[in-house]
Amino acid sequence: MSAKSEKLKPCPFCGCDDARVQIETYGKWARVFCPSCGASTMSVQVGYNDPSPAVKLWNERADDRA
Ligand SMILES: [Zn+2]
Repeated sequence: MSAKSEKLKPCPFCGCDDARVQIETYGKWARVFCPSCGASTMSVQVGYNDPSPAVKLWNERADDRA
């Protein structure tokens, strides 16, 4: 039931649409990873149950590809 603030872009490495957010350390850190090729962002500190900084990082990396 969590609000999805920002949508994840496709993986910049393998192009799959299956990237997902992994919450770590009691919701204080998060990273985005791709289960297909194993690419991931570094873990970033996030607000409680608000992984948007990690999502942003992922999406910026996805933009690098273009
Ligand atoms: Zn991938």
